[in-house]
Amino acid sequence: MALKITDQCINCDVCEPECPNGAISMGPEIYLIDPRRCTECVGHFDKPQCQEVCPVDCIPLDPEHVESQDELLAKLRRLGSGPDSSAKIVT
Ligand code: SF4
Ligand code: SF4
Repeated sequence: MALKITDQCINCDVCEPECPNGAISMGPEIYLIDPRRCTECVGHFDKPQCQEVCPVDCIPLDPEHVESQDELLAKLRRLGSGPDSSAKIVT
């Protein structure tokens, strides 16, 4: 399941550089998450890094983008941004 940024976002900029998949970018008014690139940080970290750093706690899971763990891992491989093949994948 991808995450989404709600309109509580205060544009503090801290989440964007934390995303290992480059899924976060500034939108017309607030930051946005590209659901095609968000893997819930699966394969990189054991917790969503954007949620960890957001000071106003405005990044919930997006129920419109429900995905299984396997689907998230498949997305990570498609993105080609995962750890190299010798690295352990954190699931
Ligand atoms: Fe990026 Fe991880 Fe946040 Fe998804 S959960 S937007 S992959 S930092
Ligand atoms: Fe918005 Fe939270 Fe990201 Fe800051 S960390 S830009 S408040 S979503």
